[in-house]
Amino acid sequence: MEEKIYRNSLNFVPVDVAKGIDRSTGKRVNADDIDPNYERMPKCMHCKNFTLNEEKIGLGICSMMGKEHLAYPDMAAITCEGYDEK
Ligand code: SF4
Repeated sequence: MEEKIYRNSLNFVPVDVAKGIDRSTGKRVNADDIDPNYERMPKCMHCKNFTLNEEKIGLGICSMMGKEHLAYPDMAAITCEGYDEK
């Protein structure tokens, strides 16, 4: 299930590993708090080219353009030209 928390939202500007700023209010927030204005951030885990490796937790395969590469499910994909939303 998708967690609608700041860490996973486009509405979040990270400051450090645990805290950041809510873009819509300008207030400091915790990365794991629920974001009331949640908007899904593109990540490899949401991409059609991504397959999760069930044996190695936290790893997966990107099969963009017929080649396979290591990928992390939580990797931000904002600038990836191959991103294809599931
Ligand atoms: S195409 Fe880009 S966003 Fe999709 S799995 Fe590969 S690296 Fe991630």
